[in-house]
Amino acid sequence: MQNGEEVVGDYDTNGKVPVVNEQTNVPYIYAIGDILEGKPELTPVAIEAGLLLARRLYSDSVLQCDYTYVPTTVFTPLEYGSIGFSEENAIETYGEDNIEVYHSNLTPLEWTVAKRETNACYAKLICLIPEKEKVIGFHYLGPNAGEVTQGFALGIKLGATKSDFDATIGIHPTCAEIFTTLSVTKRSGKSTEQAGC
Ligand SMILES: Cc1cc2nc3c(=O)[nH]c(=O)nc-3n(C[C@H](O)[C@H](O)[C@H](O)COP(=O)(O)OP(=O)(O)OC[C@H]3O[C@@H](n4cnc5c(N)ncnc54)[C@H](O)[C@@H]3O)c2cc1C
Repeated sequence: MQNGEEVVGDYDTNGKVPVVNEQTNVPYIYAIGDILEGKPELTPVAIEAGLLLARRLYSDSVLQCDYTYVPTTVFTPLEYGSIGFSEENAIETYGEDNIEVYHSNLTPLEWTVAKRETNACYAKLICLIPEKEKVIGFHYLGPNAGEVTQGFALGIKLGATKSDFDATIGIHPTCAEIFTTLSVTKRSGKSTEQAGC
């Protein structure tokens, strides 16, 4: 088997195909896309995995598809974007003592003119304390979440820490700038509401 890893999965109960590097447990049979067990069900993920697999099979490439820190967005009226771990999964994986969660509400500037609801948007970073607060989870609820999340995806893929976010200069007035000034930890129990712009 490829890389010596055993392909294990739960096909009987979830119908998904377990793979290691897109290789199934049947020689010469590969799988990509939504059918894969435990992988994000997203069009660009399927395309990337297929492209890289074809290059490995028919060219000299050794590049594997990296399924970690895949950015995604739910295009609901108030959009939601995320990268990496949820708070729950991070705690389950690393333990509560090793996770610091920074969060804040926010109000888009254009909403204040229209007298829309204040503090209805939300930003959250999940940080891994033993690894210099490496950001392992990014969550944003607000306008243009796809655009905001796509931009931060590169930094998180490159291993950005909380101090890297803090050292990044924001663009004012934007919603995304909130990620450069997050200071309230969930552990502190302090209010996340913002007074103004
Ligand atoms: C409502 C909805 C909204 C989505 N929105 C987004 C989005 O905004 N962004 C995003 O990135 N992803 C989105 N997705 C997910 C995205 O569509 C999938 O991740 C992507 O299509 C996966 O590609 P795939 O090739 O693995 O599967 P599919 O695109 O589902 O292709 C599988 C193909 O196999 C065919 N097939 C199935 N069984 C058989 C069979 N027995 N014999 C022959 N052919 C068969 C099917 O008809 C289909 O054509 C959305 C999905 C849904 C359902």
